[in-house]
Amino acid sequence: MELMKDQIQENLKEVRRKADEACRRAGRDPQEVTLLAVSKTKPIEDIRTAMELGQHAFGENYVQEIRDKYEALGDQVEWHMIGHLQRNKVKYIVDKVRMIHSVDTIELAQQIEKEAAKRNVDIDVLMEVNIAQEESKWGFTAEEAPEAAKQIGTLPHVHLHGLMTSAPITDNAETNRVYFRGLRQLAEKIGAENYPNVVMDTLSMGMTADYEVAIEEGATIVRVGTAIFGARNYSK
Ligand SMILES: *Cc1c(COP(=O)(O)O)cnc(C)c1O
Repeated sequence: MELMKDQIQENLKEVRRKADEACRRAGRDPQEVTLLAVSKTKPIEDIRTAMELGQHAFGENYVQEIRDKYEALGDQVEWHMIGHLQRNKVKYIVDKVRMIHSVDTIELAQQIEKEAAKRNVDIDVLMEVNIAQEESKWGFTAEEAPEAAKQIGTLPHVHLHGLMTSAPITDNAETNRVYFRGLRQLAEKIGAENYPNVVMDTLSMGMTADYEVAIEEGATIVRVGTAIFGARNYSK
């Protein structure tokens, strides 16, 4: 299932082209949108292949994988933690990642604060919101989110920069437009509260199936794996 180098580079160019077109359709500056290449389960070689084309931000879901890849590449690229994070594993990544997208409880935010304070580092985070209210998904509900944002804002080493969501799996990206719009509106609502140490300038939403629609609805980070690196093989 591993793709050839040329194929990955073609894919990356194509995703960038489509992202730029979505920006144009929405009257947005392509500079406002960061393409996060989701490299989970993929080898370092694939990351290097994307780096050759100037790709500098990579998304990972698993703590052990971030540790291994960080050991190989360090701060040559930005690492973003996008997967569910257990509290007892925060210590392994808090000083390695550029941003944690998947803060889904206050307790996790407090643990991040504790580990960041120990190392005297600041860390940018997003709150994961289960905007489509799916049973299977992590994240705050839209109703809980404003109060949670306020509480996270009280943590001095943790800087809340916005919201993240994973929309439902679908064949028709248009059906997720309502969720992306909902996340943007929720961020606007929280931003208007002007809670101390809370900035709502980042919306992490849109994956392979729906990143163009997400950009049209205001995504500032899209998280794209399969369309760049090919299908993942979890059986290895
Ligand atoms: C795996 C993953 C992605 C990338 O998904 P693709 O469909 O391969 O683009 C994005 N976000 C999260 C949270 C993921 O776990």
